[in-house]
Amino acid sequence: MRELVYLRIYCPLCGKGGQLAFLLCDDQMSVVVICEECSSVWRTPREVGNGKIYSAEPPDWKIPELGVGIGDGSRWATPEEISQAGFGDWMAGESEPL
Ligand SMILES: [Zn+2]
Repeated sequence: MRELVYLRIYCPLCGKGGQLAFLLCDDQMSVVVICEECSSVWRTPREVGNGKIYSAEPPDWKIPELGVGIGDGSRWATPEEISQAGFGDWMAGESEPL
């Protein structure tokens, strides 16, 4: 699996145990933030901690409010995709060699 890109901030629900990462949704366009621990989803990094928390439910892992899914067809976003979404400032460790 592709390397995932973490955020500089942690999940407000899980604390330091909750790594936040960027996910490309199954529409292949939308980049969202997801917590690896509790699977909470935020639409943008700016909304983490003060915005709406979305959740996806099995079996199809769709987020009805956003009209996208985080199941089949989704994958970890690349640094390029994250930058294009305008979230480049939120990436952690982007300068580390792969
Ligand atoms: Zn969490």
